[in-house]
Amino acid sequence: MKPIEPVYKELREELDSIREGIEVIAVTKQVGVERTREAVEAGIKHLGENRPEGFLLKSETIKDDVNWHFIGNLQSRKVKEIINRIDFLHSLDRMSLAKEIQKRADHAINCFVQVNVAKEESKSGIMPEETLEFIKSLEKYDKINIIGLMTMAPNVEDEEVLRHVFRGLKSLQTEVAEKNWPHAPCTECSMGMSNDYLIAAQEGATFVRIGTALIGSESEAE
Ligand SMILES: *Cc1c(COP(=O)(O)O)cnc(C)c1O
Repeated sequence: MKPIEPVYKELREELDSIREGIEVIAVTKQVGVERTREAVEAGIKHLGENRPEGFLLKSETIKDDVNWHFIGNLQSRKVKEIINRIDFLHSLDRMSLAKEIQKRADHAINCFVQVNVAKEESKSGIMPEETLEFIKSLEKYDKINIIGLMTMAPNVEDEEVLRHVFRGLKSLQTEVAEKNWPHAPCTECSMGMSNDYLIAAQEGATFVRIGTALIGSESEAE
């Protein structure tokens, strides 16, 4: 596999040329502890995992000063295992999950609400038109701090389709932020993966989540 550091440097330069301050979350779900450690040694400060098992294994081994992002679908029965150990949850998408977090968290958790902007059957996330009401109703939960919105774009090449989805999330994020709800500053946009991060960055991403193009996959050949 390619060394991470030069790839990360190039990625940083690319993103900085679009806008300063876009954070890179290295998605390490497809690699083991050693490769994850290499990412940390390359200077990466945000790591993303999508399964409780992978997250627990890595966060118990890697004790460096990094931010752990849980980016996968989170089953309610798994909340208690991880919620007080993560720094950011990207997949808050239903009231039952919010209730479970409220019950299990010992401090306010930084959450992104996952929005199904493209309305794909196969994807989780709340519908765009339900997002404002959903976030408003989280007001009563003091263990939930809505710092932004997250989406996964459809797996297509068409740049205009992708741009439209990212613009949709950005505009919804701005709309929530303008409400000035104390529980929902909603300043962040988590969008963009290996195939579409440049477009996402151009359209206002503040966090991109990159696996394959940065970290690779250990099931792949060299
Ligand atoms: C796997 C995953 C990513 C990273 O995907 P790549 O295409 O490998 O960059 C980003 N976000 C989520 C939610 C993921 O599950």
